[in-house]
Amino acid sequence: MKTIIEPFRIKVVEPIRMTTPAERARLLAEAGYNVFLLRSEDVLLDLLTDSGTSAMSAEQWAGMMRGDEAYAGSPSWYRFEEAVQEIFGFEHVIPTHQGRAAERILFSTLCGPGDIVPSNTHFDTTRANVEAVGARALDIPIPEGLRPQDPHPFKGNLDTDRLEALFREHGAERIPLVMLTLTNNSGGGQPVSLANVRAVSELCRAHGVPLYIDACRFAENAFLIRLREEGQAERGVPEIVREIFSLAEGCTMSAKKDGLANIGGFVATRDPALARRQRNLLILTEGFPTYGGLAGRDLEAIAIGLREVLDHDYLEYRLASVRYLGERIAAGGVPIVEPPGGHAVYIDAAGFLPQVAPLELPGQTLVAELYLEGGIRGVEVGTVMFGRRDPETGEESPAPMELVRLALPRRVYTQSHVDYMVEAILAFAGRRDEVGGFRFTHQEPVLRHFTARFEPLYPFDEGTSSTGL
Ligand SMILES: *Cc1c(COP(=O)(O)O)cnc(C)c1O
Repeated sequence: MKTIIEPFRIKVVEPIRMTTPAERARLLAEAGYNVFLLRSEDVLLDLLTDSGTSAMSAEQWAGMMRGDEAYAGSPSWYRFEEAVQEIFGFEHVIPTHQGRAAERILFSTLCGPGDIVPSNTHFDTTRANVEAVGARALDIPIPEGLRPQDPHPFKGNLDTDRLEALFREHGAERIPLVMLTLTNNSGGGQPVSLANVRAVSELCRAHGVPLYIDACRFAENAFLIRLREEGQAERGVPEIVREIFSLAEGCTMSAKKDGLANIGGFVATRDPALARRQRNLLILTEGFPTYGGLAGRDLEAIAIGLREVLDHDYLEYRLASVRYLGERIAAGGVPIVEPPGGHAVYIDAAGFLPQVAPLELPGQTLVAELYLEGGIRGVEVGTVMFGRRDPETGEESPAPMELVRLALPRRVYTQSHVDYMVEAILAFAGRRDEVGGFRFTHQEPVLRHFTARFEPLYPFDEGTSSTGL
């Protein structure tokens, strides 16, 4: 059969609520045009993030009941530790409440002021945690990774020439670790090839610098390697995963992504001395080392989710649904980051709304318009998220790309939901020439996209929505 179906049936349903364009225009204005400040009941199809939004399986819910809430030495912890050790091959596993807690522990035990941490592209919380210990987070993706229309199959790759130059200039004293983000979330959800992981690992070894992997979407990345990389088509996903992580010294993980869980994470390493220091920090802020910031039931859900996510039928459906959304809107003339990656479709807002200058926030404009048009919530990954405001002069500098991410929660929406998304996006595409931009009316100095408020620089109301979907 050629039709790829959702490889599950639905056992529990959650109603979603329709709203009118007039309601949505009012709700957006009340939220300062920041979709992070909307109530989720007012969102019809929520593509804000694939983080923590997965539907759990019957097996995972059964695991929740089995969860043992002992403070120390719970069997749920041993099942979690065993799953991580078996899948990733790292001996020391440190549970955390989510990915950024793992990042904070990693960077505060490995780096300090003046250090440089290169990556293919740091995710926003990763960058913030590197900078919080006084180090510099440096993105060195391959040049193709910054060109949205370039069809390169592994645009998440790290530029090894630039890494080598950095090693020559700064040496191991200034570079305490290198990070590789799988898949490259902030760079368009693009995968890293196995060849690139091998090359980065070799360079790191030659200079005595540990390689850590931001493993959030490790299974999606492994499946994209199987689909796209020469010589990998016959290998099983677990085998590819084992090889990737055998090339690294450790990893950080948000189980809210490819853990198929609603909360959780971990940091893992081969280095026993480092693990000891990390556990001391863990006890200070997260909890005892056999639960981190998690309940026993969460540990169970993650242990099961980490195994389920490696299922071939699941990954085939997962990547097919992202590809379907991307191909349908691209066929309607919407510029997207090509080819569609693992967890999301990224619209190139700069290419889609060329009349809106980067500092007039084309991504923010598109996010507001998609909510108005169809009650769809996406997220800006551009100047609002990654631009910088000079604290002294107040001068704004734009981000390298202006993207809007439509992230698909795992196992949540059906194909007719995706068809509706396509219809709404193409309806907006028909009137895109009429929109202007936005400006900030309020922003905070750290991770400003979560709390900023905006105002439109053009008339923005339900009259502009064409379909009344
Ligand atoms: C989500 C994410 C993180 C942070 O994880 P949280 O669980 O949200 O704290 C880190 N890196 C990447 C690539 C992510 O997508």
